Amino acid sequence: MDKLKFKRTVPAVFERLNAADDPSLILYYQNILSCMLASPLLFLGAIANVIIVYFFWSGNLTEVLTNSAIFLLLGLTFETISRKELNSDSFDHLISLSQSTCLAFIVIRYYHTIGPAVWTAAFVMIILAMMRLKITMLYYLAVTTFVCGLYVTFLLPADDFIFTPVYFIIQNLLFTFVFILATAAFHMTQHRYNKAIERLNAVIAQKEKIAGLYEKLNLTKQTLATQNKELQTSNEEIRKNQERLHFLAYFDGLTELPNRKMILERLHLLVNRSDDKKSIFYIVFIDLDNFKKINDTMGHLYGDDYLKYTARRLKEIIHEDDLLGRMGGDEFALIIQRNIKEEAAYNYVESLRNELCDKIKTHCSEFKVSASFGISVFPQDGKEPIELLKSADTSMYKAKELGRNNIQFFRPDMKEEILNKIQMESLLLKAYENKEFFIEYQPQFNAEDHRIRGFEALIRWNSPHYGRVSPMDFIPLAEEMGLIIGIGQWVLLTACHKFKELDNRFDQNLCISVNVSAVQMRDKNFVAIIKNVLAETSMDPKQLELEITESLFIDNIEETIEMLNDIKALNVRISLDDFGTGFSSLSYLRRLPIDTLKIDKSFIDDLSDQDASIRIVGDIISLGHNLDAHIVAEGIENTVQLDYLKANNCDCIQGFMFGRPMCFKDVEALLEKNPLK
Ligand code: C2E
Ligand code: MG
Ligand code: MG
Repeated sequence: MDKLKFKRTVPAVFERLNAADDPSLILYYQNILSCMLASPLLFLGAIANVIIVYFFWSGNLTEVLTNSAIFLLLGLTFETISRKELNSDSFDHLISLSQSTCLAFIVIRYYHTIGPAVWTAAFVMIILAMMRLKITMLYYLAVTTFVCGLYVTFLLPADDFIFTPVYFIIQNLLFTFVFILATAAFHMTQHRYNKAIERLNAVIAQKEKIAGLYEKLNLTKQTLATQNKELQTSNEEIRKNQERLHFLAYFDGLTELPNRKMILERLHLLVNRSDDKKSIFYIVFIDLDNFKKINDTMGHLYGDDYLKYTARRLKEIIHEDDLLGRMGGDEFALIIQRNIKEEAAYNYVESLRNELCDKIKTHCSEFKVSASFGISVFPQDGKEPIELLKSADTSMYKAKELGRNNIQFFRPDMKEEILNKIQMESLLLKAYENKEFFIEYQPQFNAEDHRIRGFEALIRWNSPHYGRVSPMDFIPLAEEMGLIIGIGQWVLLTACHKFKELDNRFDQNLCISVNVSAVQMRDKNFVAIIKNVLAETSMDPKQLELEITESLFIDNIEETIEMLNDIKALNVRISLDDFGTGFSSLSYLRRLPIDTLKIDKSFIDDLSDQDASIRIVGDIISLGHNLDAHIVAEGIENTVQLDYLKANNCDCIQGFMFGRPMCFKDVEALLEKNPLK
């Protein structure tokens, strides 16, 4: 039992007694304390009895020893009880009983020696009993006092019998009074104690309630803190989402530049500025020149890289006050929102072009960047954002047309030009579907004997809207639109079919020349297409001559030469058309598998009046002969030209002088008329 484990000293028990707040524990320590005081006192009593009664009062030895033995026995009883593990009620009764036994012993054994003074012990015990938490001991003492009173009154021999009952009554009245007082005092103390306990319990309950509330408060505080944190997180998320939404709404995901919407909003702001209406600003439309090619040939990842790089590069080089955005695809727009003169704006854009036009390396590949720039000016080229953007777009379109990497300011007449072009584009698309194309054939003759060498197939467009359109006007457009591949294939097939018909009918070993665009030549399927046409028409390849132009050699010379060799391997002839106007360099001319050189009409035109040119044409003819090529002169309109060409050993002649491009029926008629020529 835990309450037994303590230092058995009076101060230690006192300390515990003072610290205890449980009534049963208090009673327990009071009992222990009673034992601890009673047992040494009783031991001392045993010794004092011997010394005082035997030696000083010369008492009877047997009686003295018996009394001391009882003292010792009672002392031992207290000591034993104090060391037992008892519940507090049994403990209380045992102690009370032992105390009463002590009182009874003292009264019975010493009354006859010291008389009523013996009751002092009873009073001391009553006082001690009053100090206890329970009244049990007081009741025990009351009973004991009464019984002992009877004993001393009636059983002890007395000198005066009559006086004894009086004495008993007085004695008991006195004790009754003492006990009543003691009980009242005890109850008052008990009442106070109970009140204090009640108050203590109330305080404890309140304290517990407060502690509970405090705990609740703490919990609420914690919950609030958690909720606050959650609120902060969701606030942060909302803020991030808003930022993201704003970014998605106003920025381009790939390049992270402002998007079309933001550019338009900025333009609205600039257009509606009320402070300084006169201040001009510029919109520059920037379109990358070879983006489609990069995307088509190298894939979209490369394309994306290219766009990202260009955006980054442009951002680095633009003025910090300007706004750059991506309008979509490979189109960027730059708003120059500074009040500068047109010349300064042009110089600025030119510097951007020069800095941008550079070889760039990304982690995927190396590109050569170039772009076309169109500039529109507020307010002269448009008072509204959309109008300004359109003007800038139009001028960019023009810049592109003029050979890329170009810068153009907007001019009102550009609009019409572009509109016309757009209209022609749509009509051209329909023309192909509506079979509005047909072919005319212009004869070519041997210069020496004027016999027919063959025909050049020339495409014609009979448009219901425009009437006859020159191939010079629509072929470049068809090339730009990529339509030329289909159209060229149709020309080749139709011309070969018709020629085969002629050949079957007239069998004059003629040849047919078909013009081939550079765009067709870049088509990887081109050789296969020729093969198919030859197979389909059963034509002798030697009778087919393909006319290519020098523009083909601007880029990818090696690849082009390779393809020409593949064509040559089919035994098809190759003719270099419009020779002298392009960029032919003599070094690679030698490497080209060319059968025929066609001197451009401009040189022939000049033959009539210019001496220098005269010499040039002669030189071209000798150069061609040195390359083992057949020389054809085209555009011959007069005898001066003809005589010169003949004198300079030109092999073949073609021109209005001998025959204009004609329909198939006229060709048939011509061959019928001139079977031997
Ligand atoms: P080209 O291949 O150099 O064709 C010769 C052009 O000169 C033809 O013009 C012809 O009509 C014209 N011509 C010939 N002799 C004379 C002459 O004595 N005087 C004048 N003033 N002109 C003469 P056309 O038919 O207008 O063709 C122009 C160009 O269009 C051709 O030049 C050729 O580059 C292109 N072209 C024509 N048909 C086709 C085609 O089927 N495919 C491709 N890719 N281009 C074609
Ligand atoms: Mg030609
Ligand atoms: Mg030509």
